[in-house]
Amino acid sequence: MTDLARLVSDIAAEMAACSERGTVASYIPPLARIDPRQFGLCVVLADGTVHQAGDSEQPFSIQSVSKVFALTQALGKIGDALWRRVGREPSGTPFNSIVQLEREQGIPRNPFINAGALVVADVNLAGHAPKLAIGELLRFVRYLADDETIVIDEAVARAEQETGFRNIALANYMRAFGNIRHAPELTLGVYFHQCAIAMSCRQLAMAGRFLMQGGSHGRQAARVVSPQRARRINALMLTCGHYDASGDFAFRVGLPGKSGVGGGILAIAPGKASIAVWSPGLNANGNSMLGTLALERLAEATGWSVFAPSGQA
Ligand code: GLN
Repeated sequence: MTDLARLVSDIAAEMAACSERGTVASYIPPLARIDPRQFGLCVVLADGTVHQAGDSEQPFSIQSVSKVFALTQALGKIGDALWRRVGREPSGTPFNSIVQLEREQGIPRNPFINAGALVVADVNLAGHAPKLAIGELLRFVRYLADDETIVIDEAVARAEQETGFRNIALANYMRAFGNIRHAPELTLGVYFHQCAIAMSCRQLAMAGRFLMQGGSHGRQAARVVSPQRARRINALMLTCGHYDASGDFAFRVGLPGKSGVGGGILAIAPGKASIAVWSPGLNANGNSMLGTLALERLAEATGWSVFAPSGQA
C-alpha cells in the first residue's frame, strides 16, 4: 500500500468513528432520509491513479457542486460576457440569501450563490428547451467523468421544485431587473435538475480532473477549457465555493473547493489531485462537517495547498 492509499483509508476510518457529524439537510424528504453515518473519499492523482475509501461508490445528490460544471458550460457559451450579469466577489452571505440583490441591481455577487447559479442556468438555457439544456449539462458531466452511468435523481428534482420558494423568489426578483431572460419557471427547472444530479465521490473526483490539469481532460490531450479559464474557476471556488464560510475553508484546507447541501465537496490541488469527499451531515453554513475535516487532514498530511511553495509534495 502506498503512503497516500494508507492516508486515504486512515482518514475514512477516522471519520467513520466520529460521533459529531453535523445535521443532514432536511428541506426535502429525499435528503432528510439520508443516513448521516456515511462517509466517502476519492483522490484522483495527475497520473490517473485513484485512491478511494469508505462509501466512495455511493451516489449522492451533488446539489451546489453542480454550479462548477454549469459555470464551465456557461463560460463556454458566452465567455467573459457572463461577467456583465454576475460578479466575482465573495458574498459573505448564506447560499440562498436575497439581501444584496436589491442594492446591487439584480446582479448576484458570484456564480456559486444560488442567485448567481440561477443566472448561469439562464445563460445555459438560451436557445434550448429546458430538457435539452439539462441534457447538455448531464452529457458534459458524463464526458468529464468518463462515465455514462451518471443520472439525475428525478425525485430530488421534483422535491426541489415543490419546496424551492426562496429560489423562485430569487429568480423572479432578478427577472424584474432583466437579469433572468427566460420565464423564471424554465430557468428554475434547469437549476433544480442540475442540483439533482447524483454522483459518487469517484465520479465527482474524475469529473474535476480538468481543473487539476490546467483545463485538459483525463490523460488525453483533449482540452475542456483553456489553462487561464481553469485557473479562474479554481480562484472562484477558493473565494466563493463555501459561501460565508469560504474564508474559513481557505484557512483550514487551502484548496479551491465547492460544497453542496447533499454533503459533497469537490476540492482541487492544482497539478496534483482532484478530490471528492462526501458526508451528509452539514455544519451551520450548510457545508459538510466531516467532509471539511477530512480535507483538512488530507491537505495537512500531503502538504497540498495553493499557498505552499510550488513543488511541495
Ligand atoms: N438545491 C439547493 C438550493 O438551491 C442547493 C443549495 C446548496 O447545495 N448549497 O437551495
